[in-house]
Amino acid sequence: MSIEENYLRIKKEIPENVTLVVVSKTHPVEAIQKIYDLGHRDFGENKVQEMLEKAELLPKDIRWHMIGHVQTNKIRQMADFVHLIHGIDKAKRLKEVQKRAKNADRVQDVLLQVKIADEDTKFGMTLQEAREVLNTENVAKMQNVNIVGLMGMATFTDDMEQVREEFQALKNLYDELKAEFPQIQHLSMGMTADYQIALEEGSNMLRIGSAIFGARDYN
Ligand SMILES: *Cc1c(COP(=O)(O)O)cnc(C)c1O
Repeated sequence: MSIEENYLRIKKEIPENVTLVVVSKTHPVEAIQKIYDLGHRDFGENKVQEMLEKAELLPKDIRWHMIGHVQTNKIRQMADFVHLIHGIDKAKRLKEVQKRAKNADRVQDVLLQVKIADEDTKFGMTLQEAREVLNTENVAKMQNVNIVGLMGMATFTDDMEQVREEFQALKNLYDELKAEFPQIQHLSMGMTADYQIALEEGSNMLRIGSAIFGARDYN
């Protein structure tokens, strides 16, 4: 199937209120343009440099999502255009986002990345750290940062019950925080291997790459 057909098939599976972030990392701008031409505007990249290069070449109304691990020294480079930063894994990075967003005269939307997976390789804060960040006075005073939700990645495993439990843990935290902080409205969970489970468990933002573009070639 063509990438257009893959995209349209997945769009049909997803309820209206769920945002699909098409993950275009490693894929050329021509492939992104094809999905753009179908009316899609939300694209995700995991490397700042690659996102910058693509953003330069593609239409300016694309909403770029930074879904990868965010190093503090990379925040400046995307501060004047990135739509949503999914991977805030430490409170200290918010200070840098605040500074760079202020310079760019923007309010930057971010998600807190929570570590739900049972893997050392995955980034993120604990459930308790995420609660604490939102309850920190300094964070509340940041005029140019808006924490609008949570992001998580499940363990890479065939055990779908484990994946489901991890998503449930994130959804429970989301519900708890949303009740207290009205700006919390996005729950970014679910990728190619597990997006159906993520939807069943209450995700409202999916990040899907391979199911649309095919397998990535890192060479
Ligand atoms: C690459 C990536 C995705 C998309 O993965 P697929 O399996 O290709 O759908 C989603 N989220 C993050 C954080 C990623 O790095």
